[in-house]
Amino acid sequence: MQKSPYKIWFNGELVEWEDANVHTLTHTLHYGLAVFEGIRAYKCDEERSAVFRLKEHVDRLYASGHIAHIKIPFTKEETTNAILELLSTNELDAAYIRPIAYIGGGKIGLHPGDNPIELAIAAYPWGTYLGEGALSNGITTKISSLTRMGVNSFMTKAKISGNYANSVMAKIEATSLGFDEAILLDNEGYVAEGSGENIFIVRNGILKTPPLTSVLEGITRDAVIQIAKDEGIEISTERFTRDELYIADEAFFTGTAAEITPIKEVDKRTVGSGKPGPITKKLQSRFFDIVQGRDPQFMDWLEFFLTTTPLKVKNESL
Ligand code: PMP
Repeated sequence: MQKSPYKIWFNGELVEWEDANVHTLTHTLHYGLAVFEGIRAYKCDEERSAVFRLKEHVDRLYASGHIAHIKIPFTKEETTNAILELLSTNELDAAYIRPIAYIGGGKIGLHPGDNPIELAIAAYPWGTYLGEGALSNGITTKISSLTRMGVNSFMTKAKISGNYANSVMAKIEATSLGFDEAILLDNEGYVAEGSGENIFIVRNGILKTPPLTSVLEGITRDAVIQIAKDEGIEISTERFTRDELYIADEAFFTGTAAEITPIKEVDKRTVGSGKPGPITKKLQSRFFDIVQGRDPQFMDWLEFFLTTTPLKVKNESL
């Protein structure tokens, strides 16, 4: 691991980036049972930044742990405070925050027995997830040859590391074929989600997103639904097919990393005009106003913190 000026919060201690390591016989490393979160903090003004929907992310981390039989040995309050402490220690005014609770070393058989549960949190600067221009121009996508896992094989209400083997393989396949992102169908052939994003389409003025069966219960998805309602946009949670995606007027992804990223192409078919449509642009601009503290309506989604002078050296490529 390369050096970095950022500290990692590791089981209650702040350690150097390069010292936050695990043993090769860590249970999770072999079997993929860990729970994690991806959270963003945004700069609001010269003095203040805010973590977007911190409570919902911490709640989902613990819900994931509950589903996965991972009992996190810290309270929600301790984890929340650890995140805020880390942002301050790392002198960050905008950040990606990645907590992970995993099963440590001990027994290597499938049953983790009383192996310890470890909690690590990283926080570092991170720009646009899907590349330069993705937010303003949109991205290209491909329906994946991999199916999103069914509701009874993997549990999609939980953000479990092992679930992401499916996402990582879909992402590698799509990008190696020259597309920016994959779209996975569920095991009945309906559109599910991206490799790390929920998906929305607009058709005949109605905003549609798949129901929460084979997809993660995205916090940005929920934010977009609430913003759309506030904007008076008709919204329907329903299944749709890949050909409806091809003929949609607009399509976009939502996620903490992806924010609101327009989709301009699916399987070499242009979506709508091939440019971000009016509803996508409206939701996107409202979203960025909200996360940067410019919208009084959704202030309770923001956990404000005071910023000190940010570090001069920032590693964007982490
Ligand atoms: N689906 C998957 C598979 C994801 O990994 C993510 C990112 N966490 C999302 C959807 C979007 O969720 P959120 O808006 O909570 O980041």
